Amino acid sequence: MVSIGKVSSVCLLLSATFAFAVGSQSAAAKDVIAKQLFGTVKDAADLKPAAHGTYTRGCLAGGRRLAEDGEAWQAMRLSRNRNWGHPNLVAYVERLARDAKKLDGWPGLLVGDLAQPRGGPMLTGHASHQLGLDADIWMLPAPGRTYTKSERENVSSISVVKNRREINSKTWTTGHAKLLKRAASYNEVARIFVNPPIKKALCKWAKGDRGWLRKIRAWYGHTYHFHVRLKCPRDSKGCRDQGAPPSGDGCGSELKWWLSDGPYKKKKPTKFKPELKLSDLPKACKSVLK
Ligand SMILES: [Zn+2]
Repeated sequence: MVSIGKVSSVCLLLSATFAFAVGSQSAAAKDVIAKQLFGTVKDAADLKPAAHGTYTRGCLAGGRRLAEDGEAWQAMRLSRNRNWGHPNLVAYVERLARDAKKLDGWPGLLVGDLAQPRGGPMLTGHASHQLGLDADIWMLPAPGRTYTKSERENVSSISVVKNRREINSKTWTTGHAKLLKRAASYNEVARIFVNPPIKKALCKWAKGDRGWLRKIRAWYGHTYHFHVRLKCPRDSKGCRDQGAPPSGDGCGSELKWWLSDGPYKKKKPTKFKPELKLSDLPKACKSVLK
C-alpha cells in the first residue's frame, strides 16, 4: 500500500490505485474504462454468488442488496446504490447490527457504502469495495427513529478523532470500543481499518483477550466511519485474500509509528495510474457484466 500524506474521511486510501490520470489515456481509451460499466449497472448479476479478483481489482456475481432498514440498521446515502454485497457481507452486517444492539446496547448501525450491484471500480470514491466484501459503518449511532430519504442523503456522521494522535473524548465512547471489538470478533472478518488514535484508544481499553486487536488496523482517514473487510468466501475460487495481518495486537512499535510524523511525511508524488480497464479485471468480470 502506498502512503499518502493527506487524511480523508472516506476510504480513498486503501491502495495506490485511487490516483488516476485523467489526461494520459490515449492508449487506455481503446479498451473500456471499467468504472463506467460497473458504475452505471443498476442490478446484481443473476449468477451464483462469487467474488472475483482482489479488493481493488475485481467484481461481484450474485450480489445481494442490504435492505434500507432492518431491526438494528439503516442504510445511508441510498442514491449511490452501493448497498450491495456478497451474501456473506450482507449477512455479516445484519448479524453485527443485531448482536451489537442486543449484547452491547449499541442503538443501531448506520451503514455507509458496501459495493455496487456488481462490485467493480466506482465512478467516485473508493479504490477498494470492489468484491462486495468491504463495508463502511458510521461512527454515528442510529437515532431512535427511522431517517427519511432526505436525511439519509444529508445527515453527516461524527468524527471520533481530535487530531493525528488523540481521540475526541467528546464523541468517542465505550460503546464505540465495544462495537469495534464485536465487529472484529467474527471469524469471517479479515481486517478493520480505523484512524490511528482509535487504535490507540482500543489498545488502552482492551482487557483480557487481545486477539481481536490484530484485525484492527491503523490507516489514513476512517475517523467518521470504520471499514470492515471480510475474507474471501471459501467457494469463491477466483477471489484473492490479502496476506494475514502481522502477528500480535499491533499496539507496540507499529502503533508508535502511526502516531509519529512518519506516515505524514511528504513523499515523492505518486505516479499516476491509468484507469482500470475491463481487460485489467479477471475474465469472469465480463460474464458478470452480461
Ligand atoms: Zn471503506
